[in-house]
Amino acid sequence: MNFGGLVKDGKLQRQLTAAFGGDRLPNAALLEGGTAEERRGTALLLARAALCSGAGERPCGVCPNCVKALAGSHPDLRVEGGSGAARSFHVDVIRSVRSDAFIKPNEAARRVFVLLETQAMSEQAQNALLKVLEEPPAGVLFLLTAPSASALLPTVRSRVQSFRLPGEAPCGADPELLAQIARAVSAPGEAELLFLTAPLCRDRALLRTVLQGLCLLFRDACVLRAGGGSCRSPAPEEARRLSRELTRESLARLLDAANRAAEQAERNANSALLVTALCASLRQAAGR
Ligand SMILES: [Zn+2]
Repeated sequence: MNFGGLVKDGKLQRQLTAAFGGDRLPNAALLEGGTAEERRGTALLLARAALCSGAGERPCGVCPNCVKALAGSHPDLRVEGGSGAARSFHVDVIRSVRSDAFIKPNEAARRVFVLLETQAMSEQAQNALLKVLEEPPAGVLFLLTAPSASALLPTVRSRVQSFRLPGEAPCGADPELLAQIARAVSAPGEAELLFLTAPLCRDRALLRTVLQGLCLLFRDACVLRAGGGSCRSPAPEEARRLSRELTRESLARLLDAANRAAEQAERNANSALLVTALCASLRQAAGR
């Protein structure tokens, strides 16, 4: 493998070489951890390596496959997604990718689909992807990226080979949605919180991502309230507001409620019951 200075971590280099260095490639791989830009760069590098027809280290950078892939005009390479905003990765795109996957490659030995920031897929989109991952057509490679594999359904996770980029996995939750939920927790009425969390009942992938985000947000607020300064959640402004407006006990109870719900979501508890209980315990924790 020719990493071109893009992958510097020795352990990751060895893992990727073992999986992508030969002629038998996995059907699907997930790149998690690092920054969105690092995940994207690594996924595109692996895509080029899979398409390359050079004789030595791949990607060679000079064969027709490499040149076209670098120019973004390779007919056997399709790149989708990338915004990362909640539910922005539509099921229609996955359906179109799925039918594309059954077409034979034009110029390379295989077709490669790079699906960026898959945490933005709804549960419906992930289930559509699962169908093709369960019985992948021959000569197809799917390269997925996400901040953390936990944003994907366990069924999808079990079908992809995961590789972790160095650095702490950032949270994939939409900052604006997190901020809205946090504000609704301490709003006078409960309607807003119920309205905002209703989509989580129908979408397990979104539920997991949002719960992960809420755990980080409430953790940050607790740390700030105790005089600490570091923020890990995607909505640091909201963490600061909570730390100013709520007591230390309230913040600890909010964190508890979010952690409990996140554990239940991992155990595949009923989403609707889980969300209802979460809303009640968050409102109670905030003294509402
Ligand atoms: Zn090449």
